[in-house]
Amino acid sequence: MAEQRVTLVEVGPRDGLQYEQVFFPTPRKIELIDRLSASGLTRIEAASFVHPKAIPQMADASQVMHGIAKAPGVVYSALVPNLTGCQAALATPVDELALFVSASQTHNRKNVNQSVEESLAGLARVAALGREAGRRLRGYIVTAFGCPYEGLITRRQLTAILDAYAAMGVEEVSLGDTTGMGNPVQVARMAAWLLAGPWPLRVAFHFHDSRGLGLANVVAAYQAGIRVFDCSLGGVGGCPTAVGAAGNVDTLDLVNLFEEMGVATGVDFESLRQAALAMEKDLPSPLPSRTLRLGRPAWRPPAGRRA
Ligand code: ZN
Repeated sequence: MAEQRVTLVEVGPRDGLQYEQVFFPTPRKIELIDRLSASGLTRIEAASFVHPKAIPQMADASQVMHGIAKAPGVVYSALVPNLTGCQAALATPVDELALFVSASQTHNRKNVNQSVEESLAGLARVAALGREAGRRLRGYIVTAFGCPYEGLITRRQLTAILDAYAAMGVEEVSLGDTTGMGNPVQVARMAAWLLAGPWPLRVAFHFHDSRGLGLANVVAAYQAGIRVFDCSLGGVGGCPTAVGAAGNVDTLDLVNLFEEMGVATGVDFESLRQAALAMEKDLPSPLPSRTLRLGRPAWRPPAGRRA
């Protein structure tokens, strides 16, 4: 029987805050990450070393990485797009470099103005530098469940990227449903295909809740054997003006979902909830989380009776 526990990868400080309309102040980012570290989470994507002109919300990546109090047992990750970003990241105490490429040529061109092959060639150099410096490597496959420009992504497209990541020494691959195009049947098939594949890669799934299928996709993936899920605190990052640009599935909602299913997350819901309430004070709109205000179900079976 598969293990009854999951690992949650908190990506809110990066994937969430980079899409907020406001610049989340640096000291508040540091405070947020320190609160996340204290909640029992073991994986936190803390920053992005993309060019500050491209994403000004992440311009303080180095200050954030130097400012946080790294907790023992927690792996801190940062997104790196290229060698320049990698060198900046390596000058900080970051544990893991997160690489990214789109499964779709069109999306990759719009995102980084390169073909998928050009991106992979550049990432191989980034990965070599990161490995030399003793850092862990994570690889995102963006738009893995569908691309708003090209539609369905083929297994052949995914295979080329998985092969490349495995050859670079990437340890974990995260398949992103960037614009919320995945559905539970597709997700279960994808999970089965990946887990039966030849790649020496741990597989994580990364869902955005654009069409309300985020939690359904998580359950389908879990039942198909996936044990690592990306999520963002409170579902932060939903951009109300961009079509399909919803935030990640909410960490609180995932903790509630799994704990109610009897699957351990190792995360303390209440301390996470306090962190979300504190973060929300500096955001222009309320977080989309369902459990932030409602909390977890209070009902418990009377002692001596089983539910
Ligand atoms: Zn994402």
